[in-house]
Amino acid sequence: ETHANVIDGKSIAKQIRDEITSEISRMKDAVSVVPGLAVILVGDRKDSATYVRNKKKACDAVGINSFEVNLPDDSTESEVVKSILNFNKDPSVHGILVQLPLPRHMNEENVLNAVSIEKDVDGFHPLNIGRLAMRGREPLFVPCTPKGCIELLHRYGVEIKGKRAVVIGRSNIVGMPAALLLQREDATVSIVHSRTKNPDEITRQADIIISAVGQPNMVRGSWLKPGAVIIDVGINPVEDTKSPRGYRLVGDVCYEEACKIAAAVTPVPGGVGPMTIAMLLSNTLIAAKRAHSL
Ligand code: NDP
Repeated sequence: ETHANVIDGKSIAKQIRDEITSEISRMKDAVSVVPGLAVILVGDRKDSATYVRNKKKACDAVGINSFEVNLPDDSTESEVVKSILNFNKDPSVHGILVQLPLPRHMNEENVLNAVSIEKDVDGFHPLNIGRLAMRGREPLFVPCTPKGCIELLHRYGVEIKGKRAVVIGRSNIVGMPAALLLQREDATVSIVHSRTKNPDEITRQADIIISAVGQPNMVRGSWLKPGAVIIDVGINPVEDTKSPRGYRLVGDVCYEEACKIAAAVTPVPGGVGPMTIAMLLSNTLIAAKRAHSL
């Protein structure tokens, strides 16, 4: 019986973080520049607080200075914008990240518009997304999760050009930019979403699948073309009485089934997840180098 190659995001992410660490240490020695990332957290969502903590830890580990602002849940939009504007003019801050989702009373578009595009390390500013979508234009930053997906394909030597790719999900932060990136890499791209009829017929044509849905084990073995490469972005908790936490995390893709049919699959956890943070660090380093013309 065949078994797909496991795409080891954890070890690739570590390799990337090591590369970033040595580049930052060389920069420090040569020109005394230390990259800086500002993270703005609004409200007290536990998951958001955990993500912010992990990002800060990852910054420390590679030598990026991190700055954190915590605003209460009942802050006004203009208070959030004000703290963004402060970081926009702070020369020791090269990247600014607003942890999403924002509290419901805030307009996400207004807030993200305030981030200077030179410091938009999440790549969510409409100008950066617009450039990503246009031929002949270059975004200053590409969103971290989809960038991590493409980086995994590159580092595993998966050819994208001329291939059929299917992205499942069309969110602003993962699905949509993932589809744009695949298209820029000369794949022929289809997008499957919640209104798509017969999604399995479409995914069966794919040489490459990026799934970002948020439905545990939705993509079955029968949805896959033999030899396809599967990048599973989904992180879904499912009940597991054997785990001390009472749950475990699975992807959108039924991993055991995919392993029998695909050529390569990312595991959950340990696939795309660690790549997202590695790409954030990479974008912050790019921002610092650009700010100092390095
Ligand atoms: P969203 O909920 O914003 O988007 C989900 C997308 O999936 C939507 O476009 C939706 O379609 C589509 N969808 C929902 N149900 C179905 C279905 N039954 N069939 C086909 N399409 C469907 O989620 P995100 O993009 O933010 O995240 C997706 C997953 O990725 C989540 O599990 C999340 O936890 C994970 N994630 C992982 C990250 C990582 O670092 N590894 C980073 C970010 C997210 P429609 O547009 O029609 O509603």
